[in-house]
Amino acid sequence: MGKRYYCDYCDRSFQDNMHNRKKHLNGVQHHRAKKAWFDHFRDSSAILCDEQTKKPCRKFLQKGICDFGPNCRFSHMSEEDLFRLKRQVEDERQLREDSVDRLMPERSVEDWLSRREMKKTALSTKEDLKTEEDGEEGRAESDVPEQLLSIPDLPPSLLPPPPGGWKVKVNTEWG
Ligand SMILES: [Zn+2]
Ligand SMILES: [Zn+2]
Repeated sequence: MGKRYYCDYCDRSFQDNMHNRKKHLNGVQHHRAKKAWFDHFRDSSAILCDEQTKKPCRKFLQKGICDFGPNCRFSHMSEEDLFRLKRQVEDERQLREDSVDRLMPERSVEDWLSRREMKKTALSTKEDLKTEEDGEEGRAESDVPEQLLSIPDLPPSLLPPPPGGWKVKVNTEWG
């Protein structure tokens, strides 16, 4: 039994010899897998820009194989691929705008702050009264906007600050 060549991009292995390796590394499937892997680190709108400035690669689109592979200066994307990519860009933009709207509701920040202030005063007066409604108080303690708490698996940066607050000022200005 000889050595096996394992391709991370394609998640498959085969007997390692010149012929097999060359055949695999030049295959369409391998190029697709490799490109998909790298593309997933790129912004899809950047990819779209890129692909739209290239002329279509006739060879690739007709025969499904091109010697230049991912380094080809022509686009290996069919019209359908481009269409799908455009839609993806659109979707991602929409998603970003939605989440910005949801996570930073500019109009209601003051609103929220004043409600927070009210809760605080309500809490401190309640403490004097030696509370009977434990449930009420537990709820009042969380002053994170409800929109935030309804999102599952929040990244740590969006979780409520620890008691006493963060040491550093949290920078919310993105990009
Ligand atoms: Zn491969
Ligand atoms: Zn090509």
